[in-house]
Amino acid sequence: MEPRKENIVMFPFMAQGHIIPFLTLAIEIEQKRGCTITFVSTPLNIKRIESSLPPNSSIQLLEIPFRSSDHGLTPDCESTHDLPYHLILKLVEASRSLKPSFHKLVYDLVRKQHGRLPLCIISDIFFGWCADISHEFGVFHAIFLPSCAFSSACYYSIGMSLPHRNNESKEFVLADFPQASRIHVTQMSENLQGADGKESLSQTLRKLVQDCMSIDGALVNSMAELDEAGLTFFQKTFGKPFWPIGPVLLPPGTGITAAKVCRNWLDTKPPNSVLYVSFGSQNTVSASQMMHLALALEASGKNFIWVVRPPTGFDINSEFNGKEFLPEGFEERNKASRRGLLVHQWAPQMEILSHKSTSAFLSHCGWNSVLEALSYGVPIIGWPMAAEQFYNVKLLEEEIGVCLEVARGRISEVKSEDIVAKIDLVMNDSEKGKEMRKKACEVRNIINNSIADKEVFKGVSARAMDDFLNAAMLMREQAKRIPGN
Ligand code: UDP
Repeated sequence: MEPRKENIVMFPFMAQGHIIPFLTLAIEIEQKRGCTITFVSTPLNIKRIESSLPPNSSIQLLEIPFRSSDHGLTPDCESTHDLPYHLILKLVEASRSLKPSFHKLVYDLVRKQHGRLPLCIISDIFFGWCADISHEFGVFHAIFLPSCAFSSACYYSIGMSLPHRNNESKEFVLADFPQASRIHVTQMSENLQGADGKESLSQTLRKLVQDCMSIDGALVNSMAELDEAGLTFFQKTFGKPFWPIGPVLLPPGTGITAAKVCRNWLDTKPPNSVLYVSFGSQNTVSASQMMHLALALEASGKNFIWVVRPPTGFDINSEFNGKEFLPEGFEERNKASRRGLLVHQWAPQMEILSHKSTSAFLSHCGWNSVLEALSYGVPIIGWPMAAEQFYNVKLLEEEIGVCLEVARGRISEVKSEDIVAKIDLVMNDSEKGKEMRKKACEVRNIINNSIADKEVFKGVSARAMDDFLNAAMLMREQAKRIPGN
């Protein structure tokens, strides 16, 4: 009889930028490490996840009850995708109420397995409180950080070491993370800009960090070679291992609609000729920025795919057709010339980034988007909107050289001619553009080497994954030796 496989419980926060890397990691662990996975989320998310599982997957999906209306959110609001940006923090805070249900879920799981414990529980960084529950059952606990350690360290330092600047200065250096050099006040989330730490974001951040104090370690979706400073910072701060196991990447074409339309359109374009524009799953630009961006895309003369989402402040419950926020005849003109493809709401991003016609990515620089672009050697035009995206751009532009920032935030004034100038610089044969493409290809090679998991060669990320699993096994063995276990 085959020995029973180890089970790992995974529990992401309810946002696409968290669920996608968690699910990808789950698939990878199941397929490459031979463990079974129990994947926990709220009912509506489980329904969405169900349709994106690969056909050969035996990942067990478990629902955890959640009533958004109990927390002042609209009914059936179970993802940041269903929310305007300013309410996301509310969902983060509401998700703390999942604690008793998660305790029961683990209890039931163990009971059903006749007392057999999962090898470990991997929870979201927002669910650090899972550490206490795991330890109560004698189970190893790790958080999974879907972003890189560098930008998380910047964000952490800004939120935790207040007051971090005097009110007059526009720039400051983080006392505990000087490796990030100077931070400009426009690189801070709007609700962290007050220097006194009384903003709700700052207070929530402190609670989240407090919850993470008893974790056994963390998996980080980045590569040791590019993220050394941030990783060292966190290992020292928490006194626990931070394993850089990234990037975890969904293969192109996994469970995403509209892929065929985009692929067919891209197939008609010359290699390296298309600009892909997207601001991720939850960020939007303002109406005026949207207009300038549209004018810039037309004026640039480049082929483009643009994921059009309602601008900031638009009531997400009403119907959006985009026309009133775009120059007159924009969609029709670009359709007729076949120069631009507008995708509404959601595009098959991996499919687009992996296509040979894609040349550059105008992105908000969410970390998943960054990794997805770089894994195909695509340079980035950065337009960070919030949270750690500002520091992702900092790392990518100042340290790695694969990004050029074009604008910052949702309220800044953006001129279409400035956007055109940056698009030209990156996509035309300028020295800067060539250098960025060369660097992006170097990073693609670093990524491929890091995740290589062959007998002849094991990359650093694959080895970090081994170390994490060994640490969980060790805790299991030690627990068994304690009398009574
Ligand atoms: N994504 C996608 N299609 C879209 C928008 C986003 O497939 O139209 C995916 C993208 O590939 C990435 C995730 O959603 O895996 C977004 O995560 P990221 O960290 O880039 O940004 P966030 O949405 O969390 O701000």
